[in-house]
Amino acid sequence: MAVRPIVQADNPILRQKSKKVKRFGRALQNLIDDMVETMHAVNGLGLAAPQIGVSQQVIVVQLPEDEENPQSGKLYVLCNPEIVRTAGEEGESEEGCLSVPGFVGDARRATVVTVKGLDRRGKKIRIKAEGLLAQAFQHEIDHINGILYIDRVDSPEKIRRIVPVEEQGPQEASQEEPAS
Ligand code: ZN
Repeated sequence: MAVRPIVQADNPILRQKSKKVKRFGRALQNLIDDMVETMHAVNGLGLAAPQIGVSQQVIVVQLPEDEENPQSGKLYVLCNPEIVRTAGEEGESEEGCLSVPGFVGDARRATVVTVKGLDRRGKKIRIKAEGLLAQAFQHEIDHINGILYIDRVDSPEKIRRIVPVEEQGPQEASQEEPAS
C-alpha cells in the first residue's frame, strides 16, 4: 500500500468521466488499498480514484464515528457507483475538497440519496444515506463524472478561503499546505 499524491483541480483528469471498473483483480485491490491509505493520511472523509490520477469509477467514503479516532467509522468502497434516487429537500451545506485546498463553499445537495454500485469483490450493493454521508457520496460520485463541488455552488461569494490550522500563528506559512 502507498499514499499517493492528490491531483489538484487544474488537472484535466478531474474533468473527465472515469471508466467503469470491469475487472476485480489484484490491480483494483491495490488501487482501493492505496485510496484508503491516502484518505487516512490526509484525514479526508472520502476520495475518488481520479483524485489520485486514476480514471476509474471507484470511490471510498469513511465518516468518523468517534472524533478522536478518524478511522472509527464504517468504510464504504464502491465501484461504478450511481445515485438511483434522491429524496428530502435539497439544501446547501459547507463542503471542501482535497483537490481544491484552502477553500470551502456552500454546495447544493440532496439530503437523502440511494446509491448503488459494486463492492471491491464485484458484489452488488445498495446504500441509503442521509445527511453528511449523503453529501459525501454525492461529492465523490460527482468526481467520477468530472464534476467538482464548486460547480454546485450558486455564486462566487459562497466560496470562502480558509486558513488551515497549521498555518495560523505569527509566522506566515506557505499556502501549499494540504487541506484536510
Ligand atoms: Zn473532492
